[in-house]
Amino acid sequence: MSGFTDPHQKPLELREDFPVLEQTINGSPLVYLDSAATTQKPRQVIEAISHYYLKDNANVHRAAHTLSDHATHQFEAARSKLANFIHADTSREIIWTRGTTEAINLVAYSFGSRLGSEDEILISEMEHHSNIVPWQLLAQRTGVTLRAVRVTPEGELDLEDFERKLNERTALVSIVYVSNALGTVNPVADIIQKSHRVGARVLLDAAQATAHLPVDVKTLDCDFLALSGHKMFGPTGIGALYGKEALLQTMPPWQGGGEMIETVTLEETLYNELPYKFEAGTPHIAGAIGFAGAIDYLRALEQSSLQAHEDRIIARCISELLQIPGVSLIGTPAQRVGVVSFQLEGSHPSDVGTLLNQQGIAVRTGHHCAMPLMQSLGISGTVRASFCAYNSLADVERLAEGVRKAADLLG
Ligand code: PMP
Repeated sequence: MSGFTDPHQKPLELREDFPVLEQTINGSPLVYLDSAATTQKPRQVIEAISHYYLKDNANVHRAAHTLSDHATHQFEAARSKLANFIHADTSREIIWTRGTTEAINLVAYSFGSRLGSEDEILISEMEHHSNIVPWQLLAQRTGVTLRAVRVTPEGELDLEDFERKLNERTALVSIVYVSNALGTVNPVADIIQKSHRVGARVLLDAAQATAHLPVDVKTLDCDFLALSGHKMFGPTGIGALYGKEALLQTMPPWQGGGEMIETVTLEETLYNELPYKFEAGTPHIAGAIGFAGAIDYLRALEQSSLQAHEDRIIARCISELLQIPGVSLIGTPAQRVGVVSFQLEGSHPSDVGTLLNQQGIAVRTGHHCAMPLMQSLGISGTVRASFCAYNSLADVERLAEGVRKAADLLG
């Protein structure tokens, strides 16, 4: 092997911010290559959450006491921070959800409730199950037709198929920005422009995009965008739906309860204003505050050096894996971030995963909640190494060594 001392490599050296990474697993220092499933949390996020519980815990928007004021202030400041981070016009366009899945379900229930058998929803074969199943449920409820854009053998969207399937009946195009299974970055700006030309709205599943790419809802001009805090250094259980304000105004609420109301009588309810109309019940206050800490953390990383760092890691990972006999890459997209998926000839991905885990290397194996994509590629699963800002070339070296060992043992 050529070794990993690269004079041009400027490591980001973030590892120390992530206490969980400072441990050994099965006798070896942990190499965490499963950030596409969830990222680790920096000390700053953990401290923001514990500070809230130690000092400020109270319910929001309700009581006339100081702690409630503190909690409300931090909770709403987190919303503004996220609005600002993705370049939304106003924090009224940010609805807290449990994550991407809940954000997509919200759109399916609320926006979807006005659709019928004359309408179509266009997704792709590359979607995570959370951007497939809500639309199937909607189709069962309303008769809407669900169509899917094909994926090429390289793991990219077939854009000619997209143009063939997009038409005047398409009410919504719901597409993943970055594939969690292959790392493909889809040409979403182009997709949005073309969709708007036929009058379709566009929802972007940005779960895998926000930790790697600048996400600007204004420039993209998407109508909705779904994201998860835990994929971008924040806690689990908190995420958001961005929606254009004028569009959200026209949509009915989806869950009923406290917080989402203005007045209630036993006969009828007047709904609260945006964004509260879509937020029934006590929200995940600590989650939003932790998420704000994660956004601060991400913002402090210089975007261009972050991207250059990750690009170097991915490029090295691909070239090292391709030198190992029996390894084949699954997906060779021209634009990729975060993920390298592969198979080892003659071995089941889960056996490779087990052997890597024995060496302290954490990867994910299987269909990655994208079974239609696997079917379209004619495979049952992959080994997926996923990277983010705290990974280094040394992690790639450990992976390559680990896969060589696995190949020897399984060969
Ligand atoms: N979409 C994509 C592309 C994802 O990677 C994930 C999570 N693996 C989701 C949606 C669902 O996100 P969550 O589980 O945080 O709701």
